[in-house]
Order: sequence, then C-alpha cells, then structure tokens
Amino acid sequence: MQQDNIVIQAPAQATRRSTREWQQADAAHFLHPFTDTAALAKKGARIITKAENIYLWDSEGHKILDGMSGLWCVNTGYSQPSLIEAANRQMKELPYYNAFFQTSTIPAIELAELLAQVTPPQFKHVFYGTSGSESNDTVVRLVRHYWALQGQPERQVIIARKNGYHGSTMAGASLSGMAYMHAQGGLPIPNITHIQQPFWYELGGDMSPDEFGKVAAGWLEERILEVGPEKVAAFIGEPIQGAGGVIIPPKTYWPEIQRICDKYGILLVSDEVICGFGRTGNWFGCETMGSKPDLMTFAKGVTAGYVPLGGVMVSDRVADVLIEKGGEFEHGYTYSGHPVACAVAVANIKLMQQQKLVEHVRDDVGPYLAQQFETLRDHPLVGEAVSCGLMGAIQLVKDKATRQFFPSSLEVGMVCRGHCFGNGLVMRAVGDRMVIAPPLIITRAQIDEMMTLIRRCLDLTLADVKAKGWL
Ligand SMILES: *Cc1c(COP(=O)(O)O)cnc(C)c1O
Repeated sequence: MQQDNIVIQAPAQATRRSTREWQQADAAHFLHPFTDTAALAKKGARIITKAENIYLWDSEGHKILDGMSGLWCVNTGYSQPSLIEAANRQMKELPYYNAFFQTSTIPAIELAELLAQVTPPQFKHVFYGTSGSESNDTVVRLVRHYWALQGQPERQVIIARKNGYHGSTMAGASLSGMAYMHAQGGLPIPNITHIQQPFWYELGGDMSPDEFGKVAAGWLEERILEVGPEKVAAFIGEPIQGAGGVIIPPKTYWPEIQRICDKYGILLVSDEVICGFGRTGNWFGCETMGSKPDLMTFAKGVTAGYVPLGGVMVSDRVADVLIEKGGEFEHGYTYSGHPVACAVAVANIKLMQQQKLVEHVRDDVGPYLAQQFETLRDHPLVGEAVSCGLMGAIQLVKDKATRQFFPSSLEVGMVCRGHCFGNGLVMRAVGDRMVIAPPLIITRAQIDEMMTLIRRCLDLTLADVKAKGWL
C-alpha cells in the first residue's frame, strides 16, 4: 500500500506504552541470553530507551552512568555522529553484498587495510565474522586446518583456561572454561582441554605475584606434556580475562606462556574481543601483556557495538601456509565482511585515531582510574581493587587478611549490583567481584563521578552485610 503521503509522528518509544506494559510484552515473548526467564518475568526487565556519551536512560527517566560500555563494547561512547553517518551512507549506497562469489565491497577492503595498520606487525590478513563467538569458531577450524596443511593432522587439541570466556556457540562455549555452561548441551566438544587460570588473589597463596605468574604459565607446559606436544594445535587466552571477572595476570605470565608456545611450536591465539581496540591502553591487549600471537580474535569494540562485527586477524605464519598450500578454506558466513558493519568499523577506528583515544587511556584516564582504585583498598569489604587501562575489578571479601571470600550462596556481589542500579551506575557482578569497563571517552571528572557512586554502593553493601551478620 502506498503510504508516502501519510506522515506519522511517532511518539517516543518509551511513552507509546507504560513501562509495565513493555515489561509484560517482554516477559511474554523475549527469551533473554544468560537469564532465568521466570525470575526476570516476576521482576520485570529494565527498559533502556536512550543513551548519550557514557549515560543511559530507562523508561522511567532514570539516568545511569554506564560503567560497562554496554557489554564491553561501546568504547567510543553512545551517539557518535560519524558512526551513525557511516551506517546511514552505506545503507543507502550498498546495504549488503557477500564476499563469496569472488566479489568484494569497498568497506570490507578499507577495513582490512586499516586493521593491518593498527594491529601488531605480524598481521596482514583478516577473516571476518559477526561476533566474538563466531570468530572463535573460525579459530578452531583454522588452526586444525593449518596443522593438516602442515602434514600434522593429529595436532587437534586446543588448550584454554578455566574461567576464560570465548563465547556461547558450540566451539565458543567449549573454549570457555565455565563449568555451568558446559553442564548444558553436552560440552565441551572433543579435543578442547582447560588449565587453571592465573588468578593470584585466589590461587597465589604465599607466592609473590611474579612467582605465581610463572607457576601458572607452567601449567600450560604440564598440560602440553600430558596431552603430547605432537597433538597440541593451539593455546587460547584473553590477555586479561573479562567476563571471568577482570583477572589481570601477573606481568610474568604472558611472556612465559609465549616462551612455552614457542618451545613446542604451538599456535598462540589471543582473544582480543574485550582487550582489543584500546581497552588496556594499547591497541591490543597482547601489546600490554607482552605476547606475539599467531591469531587474534576481535569483535565488540571494533564497531563500538553499534552494529555486529567480529573477525580473526591471521598472522603471516598462518596466512602464508593457508594461501600457498591451502586451496579452498571451507568456511565462511553470509555476513563475512558485511559492508555496513565494516563501514561503521572504519569510521570508529578513524575516530579513535583522530581523538587519540588509545593515548587518552594509556596516559591519562587509565593511570587516573588506577590511582582512584588504590583508594578503595581501605574499604572493609575490598580485598583487592585492580585495573589495567579502563578495565577494573573490586574483589569483595569476608576477610582481607586471609583473602577469604564470602560463601557464594550469600551473593554479596548481587547485593552490591542492586545498589549500583538503584544509584544510577552499571557495575557488573561476577560472583563477588565487581567489574567495570567504562567507555574510553570517559573524562577524569566522569571517573570522579563514577568513583563517588562506587563508594556509595560499597558502603550500602557493607551496611547490608553487617545487618545480616555476614561479616
Ligand atoms: C564477549 C566475548 C566473546 C563472545 O563474543 P560474542 O560477540 O558475544 O559472540 C568472546 N570472547 C571474549 C573475550 C568476549 O568477551
């Protein structure tokens, strides 16, 4: 039906129905990710209706400081005009075309070129997907294919870590080291094995962090020898574990991991889905942590989350074999190199370069956040408060002297998270570890504002914990 002459003045989304009505419709039809649907239905979802800079608003008009950049992705903040314009322009010109039929599109080419520029020098090629999970699936296919091409098809095993997060597809969830995820759906898939994480505060005992870092890396070598080095294809890890609770390994860890991978010739995969694109104060987390990966997965921050895009950076070591001996790599996605997503990524990376956002994190707000976090260590609930660049964690503990945690059944972290929402701050709880990863555009004044909210929420949590007699 031709409706060009009818001008519909749509009311703002939020006011078309009441919050309660949106919540009821949500509960009736929308199965949320990683969510207890019955529990959410009882409570009603918070409906987010708009965002600007580093702030969100809900349908009740509450303003919330987004200390999590959405889900670790809105690194350049909400409402960047150049990203919106890039999407709009590309939608009008060429909203979609594939890269299968010996065809390419200009944004996909431009982005590939730009990625080769901003990633470490060993990377000149990219394989595109649309998410972090998908890209890690690509990694599993690619490393096994690589070893087959090298005449070592028995190299199948990929070593990952407990409490690492690599996504939620069959391969992504298998690489992830979360037992509760493996418990559903018959995971992990074969030939994936996990070693313990480098979490000094929980596992370091009497060791210094540096001693512990070497010991934790040594678990990789132990596992390689158990499996048989001739069967190990790759090791995968996040430079800093994000979803696992911002676990920042001691500085001795990654160089030792690198040494072990080199010794046995196994591929090193850096999952940069969170750490990539400036989060740690360098373009990529491997640069901050001191490793030289063969493959690097990215997603989230590449487009600041405005549209979905992910991919794998492929180093010359792997690309040369793939290209020279490989023939066809039997793998790819309908949306590999999606022109709109790539156009937004190009605009986003250029914006980061123009505004010197990586330098802003490395030299200004990153060190400032670290300094502010230092001051939290006096708080009775805070066992450790650590940060790297613009990702940080506050470990809530029962006993600071003995590094004793609260029983997990008390859900102290959830109590704190409740206070955060109630006071206009998104801070995530991973068990009793409160994590933040604010947009990279955050200013010192906004960090002060965030710290005031964090202190208030810690105090409110402390009062609750005392009132319940848990301390
Ligand atoms: C979020 C995340 C993923 C999964 O990305 P999706 O886009 O949710 O599939 C993979 N690895 C890491 C490190 C992540 O943080």
